[in-house]
Parts: sequence; structure tokens; C-alpha cells
Amino acid sequence: MDYQKLKDEIIEYSKTIGIDKIGFASTSTFDELKNRLLRQQELGYQSGFEEPDIEKRVNPALLLDEARSIIAIALAYPSKMRIRVESKKGERRGIFSRASWGIDYHVILRDRLLKLEQFIQSKIPEARVKSMVDTGELSDRAVAERAGIGWSGKNCAIITPEFGSYVYLGEMITNLPFPADEPMEDRCGSCTKCLEACPTGALVQGGQINAQKCISFLTQTKDLIPVEYRDKIGNRLYGCDSCQTACPENKGKDFHFHEEMEPNPEEIKPLLKPVLALSNREFKTKFGYLAGAWRGKKPIQRNAIIALAHFKDESALEDLINLLKEDTRSVIRGTSAWAIGKIGGQRAKEGLEQATEFEQDPNVQQEIQHALEMILKNKTSKS
Ligand code: SF4
Ligand code: SF4
Repeated sequence: MDYQKLKDEIIEYSKTIGIDKIGFASTSTFDELKNRLLRQQELGYQSGFEEPDIEKRVNPALLLDEARSIIAIALAYPSKMRIRVESKKGERRGIFSRASWGIDYHVILRDRLLKLEQFIQSKIPEARVKSMVDTGELSDRAVAERAGIGWSGKNCAIITPEFGSYVYLGEMITNLPFPADEPMEDRCGSCTKCLEACPTGALVQGGQINAQKCISFLTQTKDLIPVEYRDKIGNRLYGCDSCQTACPENKGKDFHFHEEMEPNPEEIKPLLKPVLALSNREFKTKFGYLAGAWRGKKPIQRNAIIALAHFKDESALEDLINLLKEDTRSVIRGTSAWAIGKIGGQRAKEGLEQATEFEQDPNVQQEIQHALEMILKNKTSKS
């Protein structure tokens, strides 16, 4: 079998099914990644969303018998909305990060990988393959880097010269010995713009990220967000793009190749107050198709409350007081208490004081006390 010829055919075919970049890599173990993961584990930098078995993450041979190559793919996504929302005075909106615009990218990439699998198996019926996107054992970024898709930036994203870092990544392990491509040279140089732009200092020199500090991770957790990060979240409902928008390699990069990736502005930049009142069914209908909905309704509602506090939206006060009094979820009550304290004023104080009479959860009680102290402090500093 001429594997170089088949590789060329795969490259040609990939262009016809909406794959924007493709690369081929060996299946040798990812030793550098292993060291980095071990260091991350030691330092407590993990998100907890990763595959827990480090060996599986670094050794493709454990994932497919006789693994001989990995095919990496990249699809470029838009960085700007074609249609913008009409902002009206006083309306407050949240934002989903770019990686959650359009249909969940896992679905789109799986479709492309499935087509690629079928193409390969039409050429070699006995070929064995294993595809993955994001939630698989392998690191999409480490594979893409080795396959020459792009270099690994200091913002921990893969940066392609063509599309910047606005690319979704996926890969397929195969038992076919395709010739490997060369990794790309790192072009970050002395630039540190992403490190400077990160609101929480989550990027550590040497291309490491402390997930526990990263807003993108924090917006996806389900518990109370540590107080020190709440102000930094701003109006982000899901994810964070700051270290990508700051990157000079992304300047002017905005590609609209895939209709499924076009965002509905009303959904990825929704009005905040209606988000608080969504039923489970409404949430599923409106947001369920987005990548950012994968953790369900609660984190998005909690983040919407934080965003209303960020805007100090007094018109949301009654809604927040109702949540504090009536919501069954302690995370929502606790975050509402904090937001009420941030917005401040006499009505906020009354709402919090009323809640102290019946709140049973110690964490929420603590949030209420903290919120009352914020109001008192503000009053003292104004007088
Ligand atoms: Fe920092 Fe946001 Fe990038 Fe996370 S996603 S490293 S918080 S800039
Ligand atoms: Fe590299 Fe600069 Fe982009 Fe950071 S901002 S990823 S250092 S080029």
C-alpha cells in the first residue's frame, strides 16, 4: 500500500467535506505532555474535567491496538457576529464565548471525522480507527501541535498561521502507517500579550494554565464561585476569550466557512433577566444546542446573576431577592445574596435582612452576612 498516496487522497477529500486543516502525526508517547500533566497535578492546576488516567492521555497505543498514526483536523470558527444584537438603553446582556457559537462543535467535528473514517474504510476496509473531540483521552492540542496544525501558544491554544487560534480540533487514531508531518515552529517569541490580558493571572509562564483560576473553567463549575473571581467574570455566561482576543496572531481572523457555526445573536448574547426565569424545558429549547450548555442550566443562571451584579442592575433587584427567598438551589441563593449586596441600597438591605430569618444553609447565610457587610461598607465610605 502506498500510504503517501492515500495520505494525499485523504487531504484532498478533507477539503471537500469542510475540514480546514489536516495533519498527520506519529503515535509515539507524548513525553513532554506527560511531564506537564504531572507538574499540573502536583500544583493542583487541573480542571477536573480531564481524563484522570495520565497514561491514557499520553500513550495512543493504549487506545487502539496497533496504533500507527494520528490524523489531526481543524475547523475554523468565526470570531465576529455577522448580525449584531440591537442594544437598547438599560438592557443588560451576557455573552457566551466564541467556542460556544452555533451548534455544539463536538457534533460538527464528529460529523467530519465520521466522513473521514468512512472515506478511509472505503479505501482500506480492514482499517481500524478511533476518533475523538475534546472529551477523548488524548489532548487535542498536543496532537495538533505534533501534526503541524499550529504551534502551542503561551495562551495554551493552538495557533494556526491561517486562522489564528479560532479553530476547533479533533483527531483520529488509525492503525495505518501514514508518513508524519513536521511540527511548526513556535512563533510567540517575546510576546506576552495573552498573559497580560488574562483577568485572573491564570496563565503561567511556559504555556501552563491554572484551571482553578481560569474564568473559562470557573464559568463551567456548578458550585459557588470563589468571591475573589466573581468581579473578574464580568458578563461572561460561558467561557472566556480574553487571551485569544489579545493575541496579535488573531488580528483580522474571522472565518465564516461553516453555516452551523453561525451564532444566533439573541442566544449567545442573551438578555440577562429572562435567563434567571428559564424553566428546564425552556433552557433546553433555547440553549441546549450550544457547547456552552453542557453543564446544564444552573451554571449559566449563576453566571447571569454575577453579570447583573457586574452591571449593578437595580432593575434586577426584585428578581434577585425572589431568588434568594425562593430558589431551591443554594448556589443560586448564595450568588443572589452576593449580587444583591453588590447592587446595594435600602431595598437590597431589606431583602437580605428578611432572608436571614429563614435561610438554613450555612454557606448562603455566610453570603448574606458578607453582602450586608458590603452594603454597610459602601454606606460608610459614602458618608
Ligand atoms: Fe485567562 Fe480567560 Fe484565558 Fe482563562 S480563558 S487563561 S481566564 S484569559
Ligand atoms: Fe503567543 Fe503573544 Fe498570542 Fe500569547 S498573545 S499566544 S504570547 S502570540
